[in-house]
Amino acid sequence: SLSIGIVGLPNVGKSTLFNALTKNQALAANYPFATIEPNVGVVGVPDSRLGALAEMFDSAKVVPATVTFVDIAGIVRGASEGEGLGNQFLANIRETDAICQVIRVFDDPDVTHVDGDIVPSRDIDTINAELILADMQTLEKAVPRLRKEAKTNAKDKDKQATADAAEAAQRVLEEGQPLSSGGPAAGIDLSLLRELNLMTVKPFLYVFNLEAEELADTELRKRLADLVAPAEAIFLDAKIEAELAELDEDEAAELLESMGQTESGLSQLARVGFATLGLQTYLTAGPKEARAWTIKKGATAPEAAGAIHTDFQRGFIKAEIISYDELMAAGGLQQAKAAGKVRLEGKDYVMHDGDVVEFRFNV
Ligand code: GDP
Repeated sequence: SLSIGIVGLPNVGKSTLFNALTKNQALAANYPFATIEPNVGVVGVPDSRLGALAEMFDSAKVVPATVTFVDIAGIVRGASEGEGLGNQFLANIRETDAICQVIRVFDDPDVTHVDGDIVPSRDIDTINAELILADMQTLEKAVPRLRKEAKTNAKDKDKQATADAAEAAQRVLEEGQPLSSGGPAAGIDLSLLRELNLMTVKPFLYVFNLEAEELADTELRKRLADLVAPAEAIFLDAKIEAELAELDEDEAAELLESMGQTESGLSQLARVGFATLGLQTYLTAGPKEARAWTIKKGATAPEAAGAIHTDFQRGFIKAEIISYDELMAAGGLQQAKAAGKVRLEGKDYVMHDGDVVEFRFNV
């Protein structure tokens, strides 16, 4: 499954945040694999639709979609040259599908910062510079090989295009720019360079670790969000998140309310992370469970069936589909069927977020 790597300079609150992620035991029963690896944390994606479906279908339990986070230790200035845990760092981060940077905003004289003072924009630049340098190294090695392949296969247009894309990417990086979408690399066909696992091609998101009192400071938040736009920014206090993770649902809601928040930072992180990975959900509901299933945006009905079981994909016949909103408006599945609101969709149907589905298949 897809995962998000959590990176950040030392002493910015990564471990605190990550501990909160893994202590978030609400999901442990449904996802026993969640704690197998010490550096992997699985978080549920909050979805209020599941509670409503569970009520309508009298479901015994609710199973949300999840996002997997991987704690990636070791980024420091010079990581791309092998400083600190540099090489390990690079190997670990290559395997993730998106990068979440934790940026320190909180000021605490007892917690030193590697560069002495608290300057979020400098820390962002430091991390991005390391990722850019790492990609430059990758391309420095790859370009001569790709050029040679293009030369010896002069008629292979793909090979020419790949070598051209690699060189174009190199030029963007040399300008100090990442290859992320929407940036100066927009014109380059980066899909040709997939095998290189370039880091700055991955989507980024940012977690700003603030003091609790700063969470409501809209001006500060805007200033920070502007630093990273169009990437998404999440604002939280890692220490509070660690506390929230230890509380039961009601206590957690109370603490959040006392701070003027409606949703924990971890929940926001899960939601935004899920979208950053290019994922969406569809829903199923019955007496056993109300559940959100994870698919890629643009997935077809048979691919969606495959998220439940590969046999469902292979034996796919039709899907009975109604949008969540229409189902709620109808007041129940029988009423919706009677009103002709449940559609029968075939194998070319492209799933919408929030489709409530029942599959028909051969086994
Ligand atoms: P890491 O090196 O990035 O993993 O940072 P840690 O999570 O180990 O945090 C370093 C220190 O900062 C610890 O003493 C944390 O308790 C403290 N810390 C983390 N987040 C916050 C925060 O939001 N506010 C304050 N005041 N301290 C924090």
